[in-house]
Amino acid sequence: MIDQIYRKAVLTVSGQKFVENIVRKQGWGLAQRFVAGEEVEGAIAAVKELDAEGIQGNLDLLGEFVASPEKANEFAEKVLHLLDAAHAAGVMPYASVKLSAVGQGQTVDGQDLGLTNGRRIVGKAREYGGFICLDMEDHPRVDQTLSQFRTLAEEFGTQHVGTVLQSYLYRTEADRDSLDDLSPNLRIVKGAYLEPESVAMPDKADVDASYRKLVYAHMKAGNYVNIGTHDESIIEDVKHFALAHGIEKDAYEFQMLYGVRRDLQKELAAAGYRVRAYIPYGRDWYPYFSRRIAERPANVMFILKGMLKG
Ligand SMILES: Cc1cc2nc3c(=O)[nH]c(=O)nc-3n(C[C@H](O)[C@H](O)[C@H](O)COP(=O)(O)OP(=O)(O)OC[C@H]3O[C@@H](n4cnc5c(N)ncnc54)[C@H](O)[C@@H]3O)c2cc1C
Repeated sequence: MIDQIYRKAVLTVSGQKFVENIVRKQGWGLAQRFVAGEEVEGAIAAVKELDAEGIQGNLDLLGEFVASPEKANEFAEKVLHLLDAAHAAGVMPYASVKLSAVGQGQTVDGQDLGLTNGRRIVGKAREYGGFICLDMEDHPRVDQTLSQFRTLAEEFGTQHVGTVLQSYLYRTEADRDSLDDLSPNLRIVKGAYLEPESVAMPDKADVDASYRKLVYAHMKAGNYVNIGTHDESIIEDVKHFALAHGIEKDAYEFQMLYGVRRDLQKELAAAGYRVRAYIPYGRDWYPYFSRRIAERPANVMFILKGMLKG
């Protein structure tokens, strides 16, 4: 409950324009702990650095909901450029995309623009043997994201597109079951948005229990699972579950955020587990940065100390 109150407070405060203006002005140096640069070159360099430690990359051009088709198309072009740049640099074009950033919810020529741009992006990833994970956003977008994921998976194959399920939502167990026929590659996370209690579990213990249940169900169904968490006790339990059920190490991977628990990322990779770091980059880093701060009280101290130092 305390976690929930803290998270709500940080996300509410960070939503205030004057706070955003201060942090945007002074915070870039601090944001670099979680963000691999403002341009694609920085992100590709980060992938290569991690690769040397046996950790793979998941590139994420930062950006969230855009209100106009022009902006959505502009963003989609940048994602296509990211895939080209990764391919040209000899890096696997594995990226995450928020459909709201490429036009989800806007109708152009009778089609949802998010889906149109999703097709262009996943199509390009397939051309390069890459993979696109459709990030999951706040709850009003879940239905449309799952339905667009299904369309893209049927058109391009689940080896080239996956999506994310959030364990804090009451609906997620049923969502996972309903996707089973696709044998999808899913990332399971706890959920990062400020959601009402009518849709999301308020207690951390329930979110954690739901998390384990989802991962185990997805593993037992024989699907590839991306375990997107830094929670060591869950990671340990998943390792034991896999061992006990004869699930090989190449049937799942651990995913963590760039700059968070680097020690654990290295330790798992050294022990022969697949590990992938989610590497965000770009100029629109503020909302992403705020969510990372909201996840852990110690991160606020890190910010305040950094700002006081000037
Ligand atoms: C690869 C990846 C992709 C994600 N994609 C999505 C998505 O598409 N949609 C979505 O809603 N959410 C997404 N998330 C965020 C996720 O929902 C959680 O908000 C976030 O992962 C924190 O929860 P946790 O599972 O690490 O567990 P928690 O219980 O929050 O944390 C467990 C421990 O991890 C460490 N930790 C966690 N966060 C931080 C941090 N920011 N800084 C320092 N230490 C930290 C702390 O030691 C903490 O005690 C993603 C997370 C990951 C790792």
